Amino acid sequence: MQNISLYWWKKRYLRAVLLTAALLLAAVLPVSCGYSEGGAAGPPPGEDDNPGGKEEDPENTGEEIDYRALGVNEAGEIMILMYHQIGEPEDVWCRTPANFRRDLETLYEAGYRLISMNDLLEGHIDIPAGCSPVVLTFDDGRGGQFRYMEKDGRQAIDPDCAVAILEEFHSAHPDFGLAATFYIFYEAPFEQYDLVQQKLSYLVKKGFEIGNHCYSHGNLRRLPPEEARRELGLHVKRTQEYLPGYAVRSLALPCGEFPGDMSYIIEGSFEGTAYHNEGVLLVGSNPAPSPYSINFKPAALPRVRASEMEVEGLGLYDWMEILHNHPERRYISDGDPDTVAVPEELTEGIDRLRLGDRTLIPYQNEE
Ligand SMILES: [Zn+2]
Repeated sequence: MQNISLYWWKKRYLRAVLLTAALLLAAVLPVSCGYSEGGAAGPPPGEDDNPGGKEEDPENTGEEIDYRALGVNEAGEIMILMYHQIGEPEDVWCRTPANFRRDLETLYEAGYRLISMNDLLEGHIDIPAGCSPVVLTFDDGRGGQFRYMEKDGRQAIDPDCAVAILEEFHSAHPDFGLAATFYIFYEAPFEQYDLVQQKLSYLVKKGFEIGNHCYSHGNLRRLPPEEARRELGLHVKRTQEYLPGYAVRSLALPCGEFPGDMSYIIEGSFEGTAYHNEGVLLVGSNPAPSPYSINFKPAALPRVRASEMEVEGLGLYDWMEILHNHPERRYISDGDPDTVAVPEELTEGIDRLRLGDRTLIPYQNEE
């Protein structure tokens, strides 16, 4: 993997890093990011009255967090995973339901917890101490992402579509969270024209997000600005017809194509409908910088392909391994969304403006 940059690497941190890695491994095994002593993966059965997916960790309240032991690094990188179709057979742009379930399980066991794209853009990361955030994105509004089927004369959600799999996983593992952004285009997102209203309302009610993927999947690099504005504005107009007042806040660039001038891609209007893409997502191929980092560029956020085919060493499992072997690159939460804890030597990489009201906590990474 020749393009893995190790610019941060300094020998004097080796010992701390090894210690962190060992502790992290121990922390990850009970799938609770090292903080619930019984190794339980969530609250006792029947206590999930928190459908938004944010679990309160009673053990974090008022307790000192050992940043060094947990390897806390809120300047670290965050994977934004990119999915397309969920279905059979496995292909470059299609993940099978079984593999999607395996992805969720593997992420969960490795200490990852879901946050939404909007949370990332706001720098609102509310996951337990020792865990790492991950963002799920689905492009193109394919049928396998959200499908209804006839069952016993009634409409039921296909248990093998992405939405059902995510909800099923969340009910078994409430502390994983429930979040994903669906970058759809029109006229028939999720390939069932009669059910668009029902599906979009359902998604928003469950806390999922709708993102812009152009009205008709237009190529934003080739389109003249006026047509690009139409593609972006008409998407928002149509989305708001289904979901009055809904704020579409991010854009996944169709085919990853973008023009040299991004100003009218980020913000503009078409026939009286304004659009503002606070985040713009690319197609490849590495984790995104921390939202508090000087390197965080919301108008060009890289994504990691959630695939094992033709990923050239840069797919989901490759990056999980890289971030496991180099935990100092990985975003590891301090468990408090109002503070940003980073090893002292990384504080110069923090953008004070992006911190907002959050308190920066530099800490000594060495004894
Ligand atoms: Zn697309």
